[in-house]
Amino acid sequence: MHDDVLRNIFSDIHIEETVLDFRRTLSRDGRAEAVLAPDEHTGCDHLQDSTDAPSPRPPDGCAECLSEGRRWVHLRRCMTCGHVGCCDSSPGRHASGHYGTTDHPVIRSYEANESWRWCFVDEQVG
Ligand SMILES: [Zn+2]
Ligand SMILES: [Zn+2]
Ligand SMILES: [Zn+2]
Repeated sequence: MHDDVLRNIFSDIHIEETVLDFRRTLSRDGRAEAVLAPDEHTGCDHLQDSTDAPSPRPPDGCAECLSEGRRWVHLRRCMTCGHVGCCDSSPGRHASGHYGTTDHPVIRSYEANESWRWCFVDEQVG
């Protein structure tokens, strides 16, 4: 019983060492490293899929703030359903709230002179 446990521990250690040696060999060889990390996926599929903005609803402000009679700072439009919500500098933070309740991943600024987009999932600007 005791021997079995020890043997298991040693075989685990042996595996660990093999993996470490493997990594060490790879890091000395640039090409092998490239194989390890085949062109790293830095892009965001959500942003690529969200190029057409749905018509804004409502068109004149944050949906929740309007119904609650509150003020907002900036507006963001959901690229999935067109929901207009306020930014994180606004007390309501309804754009983030909309993502929290719907999982709609991408918003675009609804400010007149801005067209940047933001993916909540990858936390990436596009
Ligand atoms: Zn994304
Ligand atoms: Zn709001
Ligand atoms: Zn939405």
